[in-house]
Amino acid sequence: MIATQNMEINKVAESKISSIDFHNIQFGKVYSDHMFTVDFMGGEWKNPRIDPYEMMKISPASPALHYGISIFEGLKAYKHENGDIVMFRPDKNLERLNISAERMCMPLLPEDLYFDGLNTLLETDKSWVPGVDGTSLYIRPFVFSNDDYIGIRPSQDFKFMIITCPVGAYYAKPVKVKIENHFVRAVEGGSGFCKTGCNYGPAIYPAKLAQDQGYDQLIWTDGKEHKYIEESGTMNIMFVIDGKLVTPATGDTILNGITRDSVLTLARDWGMEVEERKVEVAEVIDAIRDGKLTEAFGAGTAATIAQISNIAYNDEDFELPAVETREFSNKVLKALDDIKLGKAEDKFGWLHRI
Ligand SMILES: *Cc1c(COP(=O)(O)O)cnc(C)c1O
Repeated sequence: MIATQNMEINKVAESKISSIDFHNIQFGKVYSDHMFTVDFMGGEWKNPRIDPYEMMKISPASPALHYGISIFEGLKAYKHENGDIVMFRPDKNLERLNISAERMCMPLLPEDLYFDGLNTLLETDKSWVPGVDGTSLYIRPFVFSNDDYIGIRPSQDFKFMIITCPVGAYYAKPVKVKIENHFVRAVEGGSGFCKTGCNYGPAIYPAKLAQDQGYDQLIWTDGKEHKYIEESGTMNIMFVIDGKLVTPATGDTILNGITRDSVLTLARDWGMEVEERKVEVAEVIDAIRDGKLTEAFGAGTAATIAQISNIAYNDEDFELPAVETREFSNKVLKALDDIKLGKAEDKFGWLHRI
């Protein structure tokens, strides 16, 4: 076990924090003062440390650059009114990071090392967790191959790092989405269930084509027949049909979202009927036509809930019921926000205090 006491902490000479307007944060533009790094070398994790956030050296032959040997996570920290800083379900991110690691032939990350890194980095950059309404600190843990070897093989050396950035209030405007029936994000037997770099680069082109046509993002369908709905952009997708919460079951091709799990947990706790199963495109379109579909939304860490206002399929565009009428998704968004901000009981033990 690597204890925090043994961690080297190199602080910045001068914090950048005075340059930040927490009322007006641009996503991903400014990173907090420090970053956490630990090396995997000779079969062991070594030399955990906090350093100033800065450019770093990497071998030009690194398989991370050439073959996408990289994995990542995304989670958030919040500041409570009493000054406490909490992370939302960080244990689930570690679980998923290690699922991705196995698929990408990477070493697993030990729990104590992960939490030491997270806690020490957040403790060091405590003042970067914004307290303004709707804001949070986005946390990006990632692992990549640090080999100096261009051959294709399981890598031997890695770095696990964590960087963070304050993110602004996400005034989520409802999104217009298009059901994609040519391009695919993931196939059975592939790596769709992992957060690995190789899944995200190729998804940008089809999303860009949809954006050029006036949509905000895509609804991905299955890679064989384009018959079943999978996800929306980088969010899980959910529908309320006939009063039931319906969402595609996770598997090889669908990322097992922590927001998704949290929404389903609350729905079940409230006694709502939940169906995790294959969801046909045709079923959703029919439900829209028949007025049985009352809500559609994406679920993910960035927005928590992203309301979907329109769904396009082939050449038809369907307008969904007004966002104000959506009882479940509005209620679940508020419930999740209240738990994260310490305004409601943390009944499921989702908050981790640093
Ligand atoms: C990260 C991600 C999600 C959402 O997962 P959360 O844990 O809720 O943030 C959904 N789909 C894809 C493809 C993702 O990368």
